[in-house]
Amino acid sequence: MADYVLAGGTVLTANGPIEADVHIANQVIEAIGPGDPPVANGAGERIDCTGLTIGPGLVDLHTHLREPGQEWKEDIESGSRAAVAGGFTAILAMPNTNPPIDSGHLARYVSDRSAQVGLCDVIPTGCITESMAGEGLAHLDELTAAGVRVFTDDGVTVADAGLLRRAMEYLVERDGLIAQHAEDPGLAGGGHMHEGAVSSWLGMAGLAAEAETTIVARDLTLVRMTGCRYHVAHASTAGTVALIEAAKQEGLPVTAEVAPHHLFFSDEAVRSMDPVYKMYPPLRTQGDVETLREGLETGVIDAVATDHAPHAAHEKDVPFEEAPRGVIGLETALGVVRTATGLDAGAIFDRMSVRPAEIAGLDRHGNWPAPGVAANLAVFDMDAQWTPDGFQSKSTNSPFIGLQLRGPPQYPFFEGKLVWRDGKVEQ
Ligand SMILES: [Zn+2]
Repeated sequence: MADYVLAGGTVLTANGPIEADVHIANQVIEAIGPGDPPVANGAGERIDCTGLTIGPGLVDLHTHLREPGQEWKEDIESGSRAAVAGGFTAILAMPNTNPPIDSGHLARYVSDRSAQVGLCDVIPTGCITESMAGEGLAHLDELTAAGVRVFTDDGVTVADAGLLRRAMEYLVERDGLIAQHAEDPGLAGGGHMHEGAVSSWLGMAGLAAEAETTIVARDLTLVRMTGCRYHVAHASTAGTVALIEAAKQEGLPVTAEVAPHHLFFSDEAVRSMDPVYKMYPPLRTQGDVETLREGLETGVIDAVATDHAPHAAHEKDVPFEEAPRGVIGLETALGVVRTATGLDAGAIFDRMSVRPAEIAGLDRHGNWPAPGVAANLAVFDMDAQWTPDGFQSKSTNSPFIGLQLRGPPQYPFFEGKLVWRDGKVEQ
């Protein structure tokens, strides 16, 4: 007997979209097909999915949840709600909390809180260096024993190439992945926005695109030395796209992600001096935006990752130069990608679920719907227009409030259970 039947929607399967019903029972997809098996009287709840698209639940490689340490911005519970409201069933929590996640018991704390909240999988990532100080390695042994596979000092670059090499040599033996926040601290030079025509016009200190590409180029050399899997977090420049493309052609184990806001806005938005446009890395030129879109479309860039970075209103409501960097993104991510790119539904779920799950090594997420597959699913109205106005996140630092987007999220299923409906947690 099915628990739910998603009736009359378009199902994105490994062989392309089909019109079919999806039967969910005992946490898995029991069957896909028109009335197959026939729904017995009283069996499960029938959810009308006419006109809707059913795909694998979204997976975010890059979420800042602020717990432990800065729960006034976000915590694992509010972040989980924001995730499912945006159609995500698994999110990777960045380790730059207070304290940073640099040892095993801290990673287990994140996993345990995720299980207590129970709305989606919040998967801990671990620091590369102890206390994220860039001086010695984090407890990589404990972190890998706690199940961590993705390592990053996100928020800062691992500037010491020797230290990064040692981390790579350790992690290559353990199927670990280095995710680098690529920004040379010297070249970044305290800039507040992209260094270019707009920063000159505003007279604001800029942050050169080359701060990113010099680190990516250096790191690719270390990948060649060690063979370690390497992932570029929030790629923001055309130069990075070119480096990733060449590295892939060379056969290096390299992947990259782009954040939705870098596909949507250019540094022209910063002329308003509104801190809601203060991202990290900064919004780049229109040429960069177009190259990033193209890179995502061709697959040179593997994944979209939100870089969901909550900050309280009082923190953002200050002059541009003084504001913290980053914007929230879980609840608008698919809508922004749908609106900003020419990707069809299948390609969007590939870049926002299937590929990120592969990169993070998640078995139960990112699987095209099929009988026997874990029922971690997302249902979207891919062509409807909607206007984001309120958020589940504790923070509201979004540049998308009031804008018209396509593709509102409808029903997220986590481990076979509908967890979110009509703006509320489903009890
Ligand atoms: Zn970062």
